[in-house]
Amino acid sequence: MKPLKMVDLELEQRLLGPAIEAGILEVLRHTQFIRGPEVTKFAEALSAYLSPPGEKVHVIPCANGTDALQLALMALGIGSGDEVIVPAFTYVATAEVARLLGVGVRWVDVSLSHFNLLPEALDAAYTPRVKAIVPVHLFGQAAPMEPILDFARQKGLAVIEDVAQALGASYYTPHGPRKLGTLGDIGCTSFFPSKNLGCYGDGGAVFTRDATLAEKLARIANHGQSVLYEFVDIGVNSRLDSLQAAILLAKLPYLDEFNARRQAAAAYYDARLGGIPGLIIPQRVSWGDHIFHQYTLRVRDGRRDALRAHLQAHQVPAMIYYPKPLHLQPAYQSAAYPPGSFPNAEQLATEVLSLPMHPFLGEDQLDYITTTVEHFFR
Ligand SMILES: *Cc1c(COP(=O)(O)O)cnc(C)c1O
Repeated sequence: MKPLKMVDLELEQRLLGPAIEAGILEVLRHTQFIRGPEVTKFAEALSAYLSPPGEKVHVIPCANGTDALQLALMALGIGSGDEVIVPAFTYVATAEVARLLGVGVRWVDVSLSHFNLLPEALDAAYTPRVKAIVPVHLFGQAAPMEPILDFARQKGLAVIEDVAQALGASYYTPHGPRKLGTLGDIGCTSFFPSKNLGCYGDGGAVFTRDATLAEKLARIANHGQSVLYEFVDIGVNSRLDSLQAAILLAKLPYLDEFNARRQAAAAYYDARLGGIPGLIIPQRVSWGDHIFHQYTLRVRDGRRDALRAHLQAHQVPAMIYYPKPLHLQPAYQSAAYPPGSFPNAEQLATEVLSLPMHPFLGEDQLDYITTTVEHFFR
């Protein structure tokens, strides 16, 4: 059996290596390492992938997913004195960029069953300073967008979707499926190597249906420059390299197939682990896809760390995403949010355990991982 890793990029290289290498060589030959033709080509390809029939989703590549979130806030004019609503159980980047811009964070609790923010908690989080909600499609599963968008519409708020873990997944609207990240005002994603669509370094993108907002996002990502040496906004320098764009161009055509392979691995995990008392397999929501950026179990009865140690002793890596909710992190804690403020987020931090997940898990590996889990509970 091939040794287990949480994410194994070697096998993807066996399949895509020649296409990726040809793309890289092309960049080496033309030497346009910044703003090369690959960047525009990739933005167009991703736009075509994300756009529903008869609509255009504009894609602006940038340097990473954290920058994507920052660009979104800047383009919407959200700054000092404003507030945004963010789930307490997510990766730090979602809240970090707000605080960096002097924007206050109003946390909301998440669901114990699907891990995404609870729309019924939005009202308690709302203040007149709130300008946006930032739902995260955590672990690859759609957040409950309809009630979130309804609440935002009622209060006149923007919705910035953090789709870094769920690129390619859809939300089921009455008019058919729609890619996550294209339902709110702006979608933000990351191409960090371990993401469902990853490059071989850092990368990210923002998307929007609004052409004017798209122009502003592109301008802010380029020092606020409208035409050469005309600076109309305070901007940042946030670019996707030509090399990374070339790699992403080779990988994008495989995104759906790779997501389907993740779903197949998740189905295997479910079938083997679903009946174990004390173990809760990931719940699927009715309103959208789960493309399993992570396969995350809940381990009950305080046995999570013991299970993780057992797995590690048998060479099965397992990770805790995330061990501490953001409202309790040293840099983010405040008297307004003491321990106990968000019981679900706090409980999940003690229960979650993510198993290896990538598109190339072999059946021998899946059998070994699940057998090792079964042994622990026997
Ligand atoms: C990975 C990730 C980010 C940040 O992306 P980077 O490219 O690492 O900056 C933001 N939000 C979520 C939910 C993520 O998983």
